[in-house]
Amino acid sequence: MDDGREARPEAVVVPPAPAADGDEDARVLQVAEDVRRLLVDLGEDPEREGLRETPLRVARMYVRELLVGRLVTPAEALSTVFREDFRELVLVRDIPFYALCEHHLMPFFGRAHVGYLPDGAVVGLSKLARLIEALARRLTIQERLTTQAADALMEVLKPQGAMVVVEAEHFCMTMRGVQKPGTITTTSAARGIFAEDSTAREEFLRLVRDPR
Ligand SMILES: [Zn+2]
Repeated sequence: MDDGREARPEAVVVPPAPAADGDEDARVLQVAEDVRRLLVDLGEDPEREGLRETPLRVARMYVRELLVGRLVTPAEALSTVFREDFRELVLVRDIPFYALCEHHLMPFFGRAHVGYLPDGAVVGLSKLARLIEALARRLTIQERLTTQAADALMEVLKPQGAMVVVEAEHFCMTMRGVQKPGTITTTSAARGIFAEDSTAREEFLRLVRDPR
């Protein structure tokens, strides 16, 4: 407990949404107004019964749930680091996530597999899921989510290496455009030993595919 990294604050909460403050309340009201305007511009009557509560409901959903990840940095999501002389692979598979594609504001969702080879420091396993949650609950793209997760592990844990594989289905592909339901996009980011050593990389991928 001597490198100062343990001093990271534990106060960041991803989700449930952070406690309401004045700024976020004001943001909800502003976004509600914007959504109402959008409905009008789309030729809808925002006063009809089904739509009356929609602007505020949608605004709360974006500000307080779907986009709360913007309030936390990847490093903060990982927070508490422990000194531990464990030098074998740590892998958390099948972390489910839901994100919003920044090109279409439509969901993409799937599973992330996050691993690292420690070099004297480890992080609570739940923090790996929290990292993905923080990176997914913002406007992003799958590629960036993947690389940000790997880079955050490298930055905070200074491990021998980090690797992240993300598999996702994109509504902007399945519901519009080429309309190919069930299409899965896979992205990966390898850092440190996983970038340099194909054996380490293959071991990671083998465990992702078949954990037994
Ligand atoms: Zn998209």
